[in-house]
Amino acid sequence: MSHIAENLAGIHRSIAAACERAGRSVDEVKLIAVSKTFPAEAIAEAAAAGQVLFGESKLQEAEPKVMALPDFLEWHFIGRVQRNKVRKILQISRVIHAIDSLKLAAYVDQVAKELGKRPLLFLQVNASGEVSKGGFSPEKLRAEFSSISTLENIEVIGLMTIPPDDDGRTRQWFSQLRELRDELVKKTGANLPALSMGMSGDFEIAIEEGATHVRVGSAIFGKRAYRVDGELG
Ligand SMILES: *Cc1c(COP(=O)(O)O)cnc(C)c1O
Repeated sequence: MSHIAENLAGIHRSIAAACERAGRSVDEVKLIAVSKTFPAEAIAEAAAAGQVLFGESKLQEAEPKVMALPDFLEWHFIGRVQRNKVRKILQISRVIHAIDSLKLAAYVDQVAKELGKRPLLFLQVNASGEVSKGGFSPEKLRAEFSSISTLENIEVIGLMTIPPDDDGRTRQWFSQLRELRDELVKKTGANLPALSMGMSGDFEIAIEEGATHVRVGSAIFGKRAYRVDGELG
């Protein structure tokens, strides 16, 4: 087995163990292999080991890989979404994880309509208020969620977060995201089944706290040689 296949097998075991601890079914958790900075060959290797969902965070980098690889792979756009890239992002990915304003959601809705698409979106929440990270504050999301819900060409499926690094409160950020989701569902009757949270260092905690989509990069592909966006290695 290659390292990538071995690593994937290990992650699947950890996911199963976390699900077991939390009394959840493994079918409730989707593994997104975050392939940013890694070449198409590495993605092909993961695909050969059965991995179907991949996450990329930069359009210029993702596009050639998407073109080079088989159509059955599903691409999740997990990076910051720039307005002028929305059209192309929608052409390559069905799911976008980091919608961080009502304005952006409305623009994605408009472009989706023009393209005849109905993308699945996560709304990113930045509960810690870290300036280096995007996202709605919980208050802003409470205020704007109803307006976002009325947009007809997008389907908001849940919330996403990237907690601060190692602040000792990781579990708390994850449980807060779940509670915020539950609150919005209760208040508006919206259908928000998904929670995108957890990366290589904390996906097991995220699953214990209700994650449905974990975004795991380095634990599958190895250490990244360079940083993306100066945001998340
Ligand atoms: C890079 C990245 C990940 C994966 O990070 P790892 O620590 O390598 O697992 C997850 N989510 C987002 C938004 C990222 O940018």
